[in-house]
Amino acid sequence: MWNGYQQAEWMRIVYIILGAILGGVLSGYWLISLCIALFLYILWVNYKLRQIYQWLETKDPTKIPDSDGFWDGIITKIHALQKNYDKRKVRMDKLLRRFQGIITGLPYATIVLNDKNEIDWVNEHSRLLLGIDLKKDRGQRIENLIRLPKVHKTLDQNSNKEIEIVSPRDPNCQLALQLIPVQSDLKLLIARDISESVHIRQMRKNFIANASHELRTPLTVIAGYLEIIQADENLTDSLRASLITASEQALRMQRIIEDLLTLSRLENSELNGESNRELNMTKILTSICNNEIELLSENMHHTLITDLCSDLKIRGSESEIVSVCSNLIHNAIRHTAKGTEIKVSWKKEVNGEACLTVEDNGAGIPVEHLSHLTERFYRVDKGRSKNTGGTGLGLAIVLHIIQRHNGRLDIQSKVGKGSTFVVCFPVDRVVSS
Ligand code: ADP
Repeated sequence: MWNGYQQAEWMRIVYIILGAILGGVLSGYWLISLCIALFLYILWVNYKLRQIYQWLETKDPTKIPDSDGFWDGIITKIHALQKNYDKRKVRMDKLLRRFQGIITGLPYATIVLNDKNEIDWVNEHSRLLLGIDLKKDRGQRIENLIRLPKVHKTLDQNSNKEIEIVSPRDPNCQLALQLIPVQSDLKLLIARDISESVHIRQMRKNFIANASHELRTPLTVIAGYLEIIQADENLTDSLRASLITASEQALRMQRIIEDLLTLSRLENSELNGESNRELNMTKILTSICNNEIELLSENMHHTLITDLCSDLKIRGSESEIVSVCSNLIHNAIRHTAKGTEIKVSWKKEVNGEACLTVEDNGAGIPVEHLSHLTERFYRVDKGRSKNTGGTGLGLAIVLHIIQRHNGRLDIQSKVGKGSTFVVCFPVDRVVSS
């Protein structure tokens, strides 16, 4: 049914028609009378529309047109919508100001980027940490302001992996930078000052390197004297046995110190030009298996099976890659029982990666230990590792070297079935044959 607004409007139209009929009856000119009535109605409608337009344009509440019928309904609806819109706008403004307040208050530099990596908004910390100023740099592409290949790579790949960079504003300031893709056309670039933790990390590395270096010479002297004393024929058997044990322990300490120094070297240096040498992996693996491991294996009765793709070569640091291969093969022999079969394979994967797999059918490693194996001094079976001359640093060194070569290490093991260590090198390290 009709509402009040419609009724009033129809009443108006009825009055106009009645007026036209009355005009027609009185004057005898029906058509002219109807035209005049219609013209007056159109004039009135026009006047109302102009009033509404002026009111909407000026947004002046004193200019709200007063009327009845449809016009009253339309004006009331527009007025209600406008009020609603104003309320929402106030709410949104408040919310936006609160968000801006939160982001501004964060101790991180926060940059809002669009899909073209252009700056939409930055907070005050962005100026302090990255030298990016909202007034000056809004609309600029971030790549033009932070000219670092690492940052460009992160942006190109849309990667949310945290990277460490030196602040473009202060060479003593280290930053952790992370890209957070929010929507297809909205990304956040966040940077936080990590100078203090980098400093502590460097101090720890330096301490380990210095302590290992300082211990090296006295230990060599002690080991040397222990050997000389052992050569004395007048020693009693019990004293000789004690000296042999002391010598073995000194040797173990020497090995630990050498491994710690290797780790320090890996941590404190970048891969240099020598790291790009073409490596014949088949030759390296065959040499390790033949010369070193077979000797060791002979006493332990292990079987070594190799499956090596001779055409497959990679680029890398020879000494470091040799260390990875021998560590993994040594581990497969030292941490498995007599009669274990060890398979060493070197193959190209479907995705183009070159992968070394060292698989044994030994006792295996319980799953809860797997994620800790590459931690320093982490051993599943402490007694066994020490008895077989392990330092507990082998896999930590392996992981460091693989990461320096942008590769990955995958460890799988099942108790009672054996363990598989897979090292994969990326396509760009593979030499195309
Ligand atoms: P370690 O000098 O003790 O061998 P690593 O870092 O090389 O030190 O290895 C860490 C631990 O991982 C070892 O102590 C051993 O418990 C376990 N492990 C490594 N390789 C194997 C394997 N093939 N089978 C069983 N356990 C292994």
